[in-house]
Amino acid sequence: MKLFMAGWATETNTFSPMPTFDKSFIERTLDQLRPEGFSLDDITGAAPPVIWDAMARERGWEVAEHPVYRFAQPSGLVVRAAYERHRDEVLASLRAAQPVDAVLLALHGGSVADGYDDPEGDIITRVREIVGDGVPIGVELDPHTNFGEAMRNADVLEFYKEYPHTDVAERAVDLFEVIADAAEGKTQPVMGVYDCRMVSIFQTPIQPLRGFIDSYSELEGHDGVLTITVCQGFPYSDLPIGGARMIVVTDGDQDQADRLAEELGKELIEIREAMQPDYMSIDEALDAALVDDVRPVVIADYADNAGGGAPSDSTFILERMLERGITNAAFGMIWDPIALDVAKEAGVGAKLSLRIGGKMGQTSGRPLDLDVEVIAIVPDARAVDARLGREIELGDLVGLRCQGIDIILNNDRQQVLSTDPFTLCGVDPRERAIVVVKSSQHFYAAYSQISSKILYAYSDGALNPILREIPYERLPKERFWPWNPDPFATE
Ligand SMILES: [Zn+2]
Repeated sequence: MKLFMAGWATETNTFSPMPTFDKSFIERTLDQLRPEGFSLDDITGAAPPVIWDAMARERGWEVAEHPVYRFAQPSGLVVRAAYERHRDEVLASLRAAQPVDAVLLALHGGSVADGYDDPEGDIITRVREIVGDGVPIGVELDPHTNFGEAMRNADVLEFYKEYPHTDVAERAVDLFEVIADAAEGKTQPVMGVYDCRMVSIFQTPIQPLRGFIDSYSELEGHDGVLTITVCQGFPYSDLPIGGARMIVVTDGDQDQADRLAEELGKELIEIREAMQPDYMSIDEALDAALVDDVRPVVIADYADNAGGGAPSDSTFILERMLERGITNAAFGMIWDPIALDVAKEAGVGAKLSLRIGGKMGQTSGRPLDLDVEVIAIVPDARAVDARLGREIELGDLVGLRCQGIDIILNNDRQQVLSTDPFTLCGVDPRERAIVVVKSSQHFYAAYSQISSKILYAYSDGALNPILREIPYERLPKERFWPWNPDPFATE
């Protein structure tokens, strides 16, 4: 048996002012991706291709060469030439590897390239053309994917169940087993897809969604049900496709897959109102934080999440905190390489006037001219992604103090995935009254451990959680709840 695998990953926020270039993509070989001392006994933090490679070898399979895996921090539209070059390289390696017995793709999903509304569907379709109908294709995806019909050219789509995405490695294991069993002729996976006609945000630790996921997960592995996952959709890509899909894979029984997908999809529709988190305006969130005895109160700067394609340099919340004279607070991370360089050159202890944030576009707010003291400089900071237990690079960090607020800048644009950006700068978030993190939900894995009070604030950043306010031009809103209160009635 011979396995071909490939990876290409980014998520596109079409409202983001920052294009995704060729050089936005980080390239890694499989050897570079493999954590030191990796074994299948401890898959913590391992990327899917590393797990698949090890599982394939354990079954005595051959694994075809694929040159690099590419990942780009989410941004705006992917430049066409970059997408086509990366895609064609994957396809060329597949042709060179032929014949293969199984294909596994780590595609993330949710990307949009210039000229391609559904790049993942495009890749899957072209892979299918090369390998033919008899070879099982499995794709692991982030649930923030806008489902395109071309994606049905895969045999199995497996989405992470959790948001924060804590189960990337577990889903990789499940997907491998389903595809490998199919390649070895033990099963015949068929996929049912139910369109729930809803656009929503899914915060999986919170009820009633938590209970829904736990209950459908119990169905897996029984009565021929192989996997069940949800494609949540990514509301920040303005496309003619989108919305949530229930995905059920069964062993050979298409009717069963279709029926169960519909049944579970209707259960999801039942809870869609109840599962909406409480998003607050900036002042509502600050008011709620200030009246509380809980320390720290953690406020998510939902709309300026680099992981959702935002610039991560918006100042809306910081400006309001300064205006209101809020102290004993921490705020991070603002992506501002220019301010960071100036502070770095000035050195720890320096007091200076610095223009911070607000540089990338309208979703960034105004730049703030602040009198600051440099309290920390951490070159080449390394941290842990608390969701996955994986080591990550943060770039350089600089800690600034301004009117009782400690502000963390960095130069490698990314969301807050642990408390490390603060603690590395000598700022203990547990001792602060208010901690503001630029992240929509992935921060939750770490910050739910240090605070019982987590608030979600919205601003005019690139990811507005109040979906009704998003200025869509291409999304057919009449097809979807919440714009249409009953989209199935008006078919
Ligand atoms: Zn996601």
